[in-house]
Amino acid sequence: MIVVIVILGILLAIMVPQLIKYIDKAKAVQCRADVSYIMKEYQIEALEKDPGNAEAACALLESIVLEHNGKLKKKGEIFNGGIYSDVCTSKGLYTCTFDSTYKTVTVTCGEHDEGQIEVKKLADVLNNMDFTNIPGCPHPNLNEYFKGPRTSIDSEAISVDGYGDYGSFAKVIEAKLKEQGINTDGRSWRMYKKGDTYNLFLTDSQKITLNMDTQKVACTQYDITNNKVIHGTITVSKDKQGVEYYPILLGESFVPDKE
Ligand SMILES: [Zn+2]
Repeated sequence: MIVVIVILGILLAIMVPQLIKYIDKAKAVQCRADVSYIMKEYQIEALEKDPGNAEAACALLESIVLEHNGKLKKKGEIFNGGIYSDVCTSKGLYTCTFDSTYKTVTVTCGEHDEGQIEVKKLADVLNNMDFTNIPGCPHPNLNEYFKGPRTSIDSEAISVDGYGDYGSFAKVIEAKLKEQGINTDGRSWRMYKKGDTYNLFLTDSQKITLNMDTQKVACTQYDITNNKVIHGTITVSKDKQGVEYYPILLGESFVPDKE
């Protein structure tokens, strides 16, 4: 009897955290689906009703958020669409921002989109990144880097070139991002050149290691070309520099979460 109770206790201790993790994940997926629906619905109705000013845009947005049982917590003004509660089941607050023509709205959840970067800001920072003050850095900017045979930059890559105190080109980029208020500490990333701009895959909350080879991790894709932030999972793989391996994120393995 005691043995059975002990075993049950151990089983529970293992299963409860797993269950909580599973519920949290389900809540995050639901929240992102709601956010995505609100943004799409606003775009469709704004095209039809052409709000054109802050007051009309806020009223239209409010009518859509109310359908999702949301409550207006703070009224919006100018391009700020206000703050809403009660849609996210993890108690995240939704912050809404209109574009300058009130045709689209960007909604971010304080609970689930923490650490999310604004795509337009990221595009701007990457396009204007300048490396000419980094001693020994062979690339003056990202565009020049991608003119070579290289197709990507990996956060964990091992470098053979000199990059001053930074150790690798990726570390230089991380420092430059940080200067502009974009913090990638504790996360891993892979960047691709895409058309005239860049495409970034950034893990949600962890640094990848070689031990994680072939594992899937939560990741956010910043599709700068299409001005989209997409949540999903990505597979960890590895690459090598000389005889030394380092972990990478396989961009082509990215699978968006189901909405
Ligand atoms: Zn949320």
